[in-house]
Amino acid sequence: MKSILDKQPGYIICHYAEIGIKGKNRNYFERKLRDNVKRTIRMVAAGLLEKSKLVQGRLLLILTAEGQERLPEIIAILGQVFGIAYYAPAYRVAPELEIIQSAALELLQGLQFQTFRITTRKTDRNFPVSAHRTNELVGAYIVEQLGSKVKLKDPDANCRIDLFYQAAFLYTERLEGPGGLPVGVSGKVALMLSGGIDSPVAGYFALKRGVTLMAIHFHSMPYTTVTALDKVRELIKKLNIYQPRIKVILVALTPIQQEILTKTDERYRVILYRRFMFRIAERLANREGAHALVTGESLGQVASQTVENMAVIEETIKMPVLRPLIGMDKKEIIAVAEKIDTYDISIQQHIDCCTLFVPKHPATKAKSAAVARCETDLDVESLVCEAVETAELEIIPIASQAEQIDHEIHPC
Ligand code: ATP
Ligand code: MG
Repeated sequence: MKSILDKQPGYIICHYAEIGIKGKNRNYFERKLRDNVKRTIRMVAAGLLEKSKLVQGRLLLILTAEGQERLPEIIAILGQVFGIAYYAPAYRVAPELEIIQSAALELLQGLQFQTFRITTRKTDRNFPVSAHRTNELVGAYIVEQLGSKVKLKDPDANCRIDLFYQAAFLYTERLEGPGGLPVGVSGKVALMLSGGIDSPVAGYFALKRGVTLMAIHFHSMPYTTVTALDKVRELIKKLNIYQPRIKVILVALTPIQQEILTKTDERYRVILYRRFMFRIAERLANREGAHALVTGESLGQVASQTVENMAVIEETIKMPVLRPLIGMDKKEIIAVAEKIDTYDISIQQHIDCCTLFVPKHPATKAKSAAVARCETDLDVESLVCEAVETAELEIIPIASQAEQIDHEIHPC
């Protein structure tokens, strides 16, 4: 029998769940998703997509011949595009019952199975047969040709037929996407990124909810090393898969720490460092048009992460602080870090500015008034302003791009 299917599926159908419920914003969300998908596929190589179309609640990707050959790579990378609920490489045939029957037979013949079902979805009004009847007619044809058994619940094989875009799309494999919202639909936020395990994971979850991300990293050069900055760059490269060219602002905390060291009660050091970090981060975020800070804090992990201390640290700023990991155990955070490939980078030894010059017994329930009193011995405003003025902005390119890192110094 002559084959009616291409050697490889020439199409990928992407479904997006949450976008469907977003009412008026829907068009905007769909277009963002399409742009993100196109851009992400270009990270594999240029020229793999012939076209991409938003049709009847789906995103249809039409592959070039080269795209068909590199299908496994495309499939793998689509698993990292937020907003996709599930997706399927599909074959396209003419919307005629006999052709669909033959195509379904050919597709199923390539699989090992005993039981099967046909699942038709029809959004094309021109197709004369209902979805239910299509299931029956195609199913009966398969039974007749292969002698296999229909089983509606948990079959070995499920042949799906999507009738839309004046065509019939057939597939037997449906892959789960990462869900979430397309990156870029939810406004901009500033991730406070250390070199540790938690903050990259917090950045990942923020991206999953569709934000545009920028990052702020505090260092204590020369007490912390250049390696720490390289770690931050490597971490950003991992997040660049979801959003290319993430901006990072590197801020020297050293002069502030020296002031705190010499002039304040050691029990409050960490809290004071962090109050300064928040103040500086808020100003930088405002300057870059970000509306919230994101941190990798979760409750009760370390001294600075008691609710009491969080409150005293946060009272210095107006901007909301998002903590996507607040309810997660370390084990759960590590599992995500491994999944997004940041774990091995994060566990490389480094000294964080927050762990530098830390006393043996930091306050776990700091009182706002006591901390504020310590700050009266410091020139808070000029220290903050100096840190903001000397901050350096880098744009980290996607790992595969041989671009130079943009290096700019921004004024206050
Ligand atoms: P992480 O694993 O993200 O370093 P952690 O469990 O070590 O977190 P802390 O050191 O208390 O916890 O830091 C809490 C959060 O403060 C971090 O998740 C991050 O968002 C922010 N933070 C800590 N150090 C830095 C830094 N050097 N630069 C920017 N943000 C930082
Ligand atoms: Mg840390």
